[in-house]
Amino acid sequence: MPFATSDTVRPVFEAAVARNAGEPEFHQALHEVLESLAPVLAEHPEYVEAGILERLVEPERQIFFRVPWVDDSGAVRVNRGYRIQFNSALGPYKGGLRFHSSVNASIIKFLGFEQIFKNALTGQGIGGGKGGSDFDPHGKSEGEVMRFCQSFMTELHRHIGEYTDVPAGDIGVGGREIGYLFGQYRRLTNRHESGVLTGKGLGWGGAQVRTEATGYGAVFFTQEMLATRGEEIEGKTAIVSGSGNVAIYAIQKVSQLGGKAITASDSSGYVVDEAGIDLDLLKQIKEVERLRISVYAERRPSARFVSGGSVWDVPGQIALPCATQNELSAEAAATLIKNGVQAVAEGANMPCVPEAVEAFQAAGVLFGPGKAANAGGVATSALEMSQNAARQHWSFADSELRLHSIMSGVHKASFEAAERYGQPGNYVLGANAAGFVRVADAMLAQGV
Ligand code: GLU
Repeated sequence: MPFATSDTVRPVFEAAVARNAGEPEFHQALHEVLESLAPVLAEHPEYVEAGILERLVEPERQIFFRVPWVDDSGAVRVNRGYRIQFNSALGPYKGGLRFHSSVNASIIKFLGFEQIFKNALTGQGIGGGKGGSDFDPHGKSEGEVMRFCQSFMTELHRHIGEYTDVPAGDIGVGGREIGYLFGQYRRLTNRHESGVLTGKGLGWGGAQVRTEATGYGAVFFTQEMLATRGEEIEGKTAIVSGSGNVAIYAIQKVSQLGGKAITASDSSGYVVDEAGIDLDLLKQIKEVERLRISVYAERRPSARFVSGGSVWDVPGQIALPCATQNELSAEAAATLIKNGVQAVAEGANMPCVPEAVEAFQAAGVLFGPGKAANAGGVATSALEMSQNAARQHWSFADSELRLHSIMSGVHKASFEAAERYGQPGNYVLGANAAGFVRVADAMLAQGV
């Protein structure tokens, strides 16, 4: 991964790679952020002098722990738990927990590193962290998921707190898992400390719009990008990957704004529904029955299931990758461009490979990187923390308005930073630069 632009950042990158050997996703995230910071550092020698970059790439604290649990057959199973507390200059560490078989130190570090800048961009006073486990909830019974969550929290609880570190969900961690995790935290500490986790149930400290926020926010961000070219969502077809929380509410918001989302996917393949995805059916299959996406096509005459190929083969003007990292290849980007895509916004974290991002930018396609486009989720988590601290409950309408205004702010900050550092329309540079400056100023003010 060569650096096109800067001698200032290369040694920092190389040292970080050497120190975190064999962690390709973390290297990828480091490269993307550091490379785009070159013009910022040229204007701010004080950041270089204070060693901001060297400090930023090293997590403040890393916790790896054993998670033993007993399965339904009575056998003892062991997974590994992670919490990487990356940066707390702007507020308590904040970021999700991912339960998926692919989870390892590289994945959690890349997510935690991205989270620093994403959280800074929201302007909500939250630091960056991430955690999770290589436990895969798919195919596990309710009892197994509960016992795993309880064991995970038995260790994690001593490292978190409403002013210290506030985890939430991510892939494999939804409302059910947050409930089990919160219950164990409460039992162990004898505190109903609502602000220690976000994504809670509405009846016990959860916030309106938190479930919808990442998907809605990604579509609001798309709307803002399109508006810079006098375009809108209405009348456009959206290609969406994934079928989890982010994809479901991105699909909903596209349709509320007059567009049509016609695809959804999971690891087994994708469905195309020219009539527009039926959200109730998708939710029933993925959230209630927890079945494969092919069942959607079995129950819906207007839909077809495709097991090979890529969802990005389907033509549309908007593409919303909402599944997982590196899901959209350079080849997929070329197909989308050939089919006339106008805007791409990352609902997932780092779903587009670097070559795909370059291709979109070279072709003049509006491209919203995850740390800007999917910031609505964590921003609404911060709203949940505010409500918990004030013992208040805001309405759905009020919360959605706040989310909308935060996403406008994220867009504005990214757009303006791109202009300021000489690359108008480059939201990758803009988001990295705007987020970085906020964190760097706080680190500078707070000393080494
Ligand atoms: N996992 C989400 C993200 O990637 C949300 C984190 C949170 O709400 O703390 O930003």
